[in-house]
Amino acid sequence: MTGSLITAAAPVAAAAPAAEPVVRLRDVVKRYPGVDALRGVSLDIARNELVAVVGPSGSGKSTLLQIMGTLDRPTSGEVHVAGCDVATADDARLAALRAHRLGFVFQQFFLLDGMTAVDNVAMGLLYSGRPTAERRAAAVEALERVGLGQRVRHRPNELSGGERQRVAIARAVVARPELVLADEPTGNLDSRTGESIVELLHELRAGGTTIVVITHDRELAASLPRQIGVRDGQLENPGRRTA
Ligand code: ADP
Ligand code: MG
Repeated sequence: MTGSLITAAAPVAAAAPAAEPVVRLRDVVKRYPGVDALRGVSLDIARNELVAVVGPSGSGKSTLLQIMGTLDRPTSGEVHVAGCDVATADDARLAALRAHRLGFVFQQFFLLDGMTAVDNVAMGLLYSGRPTAERRAAAVEALERVGLGQRVRHRPNELSGGERQRVAIARAVVARPELVLADEPTGNLDSRTGESIVELLHELRAGGTTIVVITHDRELAASLPRQIGVRDGQLENPGRRTA
């Protein structure tokens, strides 16, 4: 990783014009010692898409998400995310991009146990420059958006798995990012709870967010408007849309 998810804010350029894809990859290669995790990936994701990235374990899905999230730089190839050319941006610029334009959701939730739900969500605005009271008010509003208005004072250990993932999603969207990247967000949940998380992603998309969901669950992927298959570091069907 080139930096933490949330780091000190620096000025960010204006958002890309609406017609420009939110994610544009060209011939992206990511090579780790002894393994080519991505072997020439080209892909456009348009504003307000809800996309599933699907493929077997080890196929390169998480690597792809790291690249799209500017958490890692490609070995070669072009990466544009939310109007930013990752090749020419320095680490401070990428940190600002992540803090203001991107939201991340992971299988393991990554909530802080000692903090209430509202304080966990307010962490998503730590580098916004907004005063604490405003951050907390925005956090409460984000928790209401994910259906947890009644749980704002609960700590993670007082919440179910599905509720914890909702808190993590509230944290990811509290700064109103253009793009939300979710890596196996239902991987630790039973299938019914997982379905409710997928429903929530549909709602967020209806609110204007672009969302990429990584999953190895073919059924979940099939329920989303577009699927991108990954196999051995290459895309199977970069252009196919079902809706
Ligand atoms: P997936 O998310 O589809 O399971 P990953 O993107 O995590 O796949 O991994 C793709 C390949 O790259 C695998 O062979 C994995 O072992 C390798 N890989 C991933 N991250 C690293 C890393 N930081 N260092 C070395 N190899 C890695
Ligand atoms: Mg993975």
